Parts: sequence; structure tokens; C-alpha cells
Amino acid sequence: MSLNREALKEAVRIVIKVGSSTITHGNGKRNFFRIDHLAREISDLVNQGKEIILVSSGAVAVGVDRLGLQEKPNTIPEKQAAAAVGQGVLMHTYEKIFAEYGQIVAQVLLTRADSVDRHRYTNSRNTFLALLGHQVIPIVNENDVVAIDELKIGDNDNLSALVAGIVDADLLILLSDVDGLYTANPQKDPTATLVSEVIDITQDIEDSAGEAGSKVGTGGMFTKIQAAKAATSSGIHMVIASGEENDAISRILNGEEIGTLFVSRENRLQFRKRWLAFGARIAGKIVVDQGCTKAIKKVGGCSLLPAGISAIEGDFEAGNTVSVVDSTGHELARGLTNYSAEELDLIKGAKSTDIEQILGHKYYDEVIHRDDLVIL
Ligand code: GLU
Repeated sequence: MSLNREALKEAVRIVIKVGSSTITHGNGKRNFFRIDHLAREISDLVNQGKEIILVSSGAVAVGVDRLGLQEKPNTIPEKQAAAAVGQGVLMHTYEKIFAEYGQIVAQVLLTRADSVDRHRYTNSRNTFLALLGHQVIPIVNENDVVAIDELKIGDNDNLSALVAGIVDADLLILLSDVDGLYTANPQKDPTATLVSEVIDITQDIEDSAGEAGSKVGTGGMFTKIQAAKAATSSGIHMVIASGEENDAISRILNGEEIGTLFVSRENRLQFRKRWLAFGARIAGKIVVDQGCTKAIKKVGGCSLLPAGISAIEGDFEAGNTVSVVDSTGHELARGLTNYSAEELDLIKGAKSTDIEQILGHKYYDEVIHRDDLVIL
């Protein structure tokens, strides 16, 4: 057994995400066999003293079935209507089945707005901790009815990584209709093999993830890799495994090599930095040159100075969270910018000592201070 897998035995606070395709049949009807199995496994873990948070998709899929629609609607209001119906059905099902195993559940509906605002982010953490303190199993979904356009997280892979960060989880498990990360697309390439452990989420892995999603859910491998980046850089291990696998959760917690483990970075990000990197809305991009890319990747990181900046994308203000990318568009870091897009356009490439002369004022030498920069 690998040492990293062995470490999963120690996980206490665990976020488990199930996709729509895991808890519903292809026709959108609830898969009671799977839901029951999931509830039994989770209840048993809670009885062993583990703290479990369940992020469950399926509101739209179940709502579509309950309303007798032929397929998932295309318009936002229709989708939201389906989610409003389905979320109730889903919670009713969980409430009933978990109660049979003696557990209390709670519904938690989140939106991106709850994470963009630092006070709401902190507040939701306190609520989660209070629920766990009562041995309650929080069941989380996005508040599909009110979440629109840029305030929508959009997929529960990213939502579950956000939740894992909020509660400072030890482990995030994504159960879905794929059984992990493959060396190539297994549907197209017969030589593709399952990767058991990923230490570094390379550009190659990101590129190969594509953007495909399944019929009923929203995410695909692409959003799972985004979730893995968020979780591992926050110091949280993540496992992707098939929801069809028997007893997947307990086996993962026994260190068994199923699915793909994304090993967490050693340094746990502080709560504030985690919010900065994964809670806040990204207002724009700063493109940096090769020298700066190298400096950012060095252990310990550095502050971002105007000299290393080659271009600015988007219109943002000082104090916004921005993404720092290399010349190929690969995301290197996120951070709080001290200067607006307009100001940066003028000082990009310049020495810090020239900032005042160019702008007529200078707030800081650094565009992003190292304390406000999270390396991804
Ligand atoms: N919130 C959506 C639902 O419950 C699911 C999003 C997703 O599939 O990732 O239907």
C-alpha cells in the first residue's frame, strides 16, 4: 500500500460528492439501491466518529423526472424550476433513508455569492462546524433556484472542493460515472490505463481532461481536475472513484487503491488564502513573462512586480482577486492586486522605482504581495 493511500486511513473530516449519474438511473428516476447503500456506508462512518459532509447533485435530474419532462430543459428558469422540485424530493429521500440508520441530516444550499463575500464564507464555515458538532450530516447542493450567470459555481465538483476548503476537510471523495483519471481517453484509446496516484497536476493532465460531461450531470473530467487543483493546493487529498464500485468510500478509507488519488500539497493554506484562491471571484488576468513564471514556481514563491508583467486581460479594480497566467494561458497563481487593470496597463514591464513617475502615485512596489499570492 502506498504511503499516501495509507494516510487516508487517518482522515476524519471527509467531504463526499455524488454525481447525478450515481444516484439516478439513466431515465432520471432515483436509484434507491445506490442511495440506500450510500446512506448506510456514510452512517456507519459517522458511527465510527468520522465527520461526513455529503455534496449531492441530482436536483435537476430528479425534478425533470418528477415533472414528467422528457429531457433536461434548456432555459434557465425551466432548469431552476426542475431543481426546485427535485431538491425537495432529494432531501425527502435522504431524510427518510438516513433516519432509518439513526442519522440526522441538514440541507445546506450555497451559491458563489456565499463564498465571494469573506464574511459569508466564514459564516458558512461556522454553520458547518455547528452541524458537525451535533453529529449531523450536512447535505449540500448549489442553490440552483437563485444562482445565475457569474454567481453560479455551475458544477458540484467545484462546489465540493469549495466546501472541503470551507470546512478544512482532510479528504474529498468524488463518486461519479468515471472510475478515475486515465492516461488517455479510454473510449478512444484502448491502451489507456487508470492512474492510481497524481502528485503534480501538470499542464498535460489539465489539457487531456477536455470538457466533456455526462448526460445527466454537469461536470466532466475538466471540472474534476479543477476541483483537484483547488483541494490539493488547500492541503486536502482528493480521490475520484466510480460510484458503481461496491463500498468505494470505506475501501478508500482503508487505503485500498481504487480510483485516482490526487495527493495534497504539504502546506495547508491558511483560511484567508484558501478563500482568496478558491472562494473569491476572479476579476481578470495578469499575464507574466518567462522569468517571472520561473520565480513564481520556485519554492516559497515571490511577490509579483510590474517588471515581469507582459499583458493584462479584463477590467478589474485594485483589491480584486486576479489570476496570474503564463504566456500559454496556464494558471500559475491567484492573488489580490494592488493596482487596477488600467494602471497595470501603464506600468507593465516597468521597474517598481518608475511606478510613481508613470502613474503620478504609488501605493506599493508589488503588484501582488507574496502574502496575498497563492501559488497553484
Ligand atoms: N446542482 C445540480 C443538481 O443538483 C448539479 C450540478 C452538477 O451536476 O454538478 O442538479
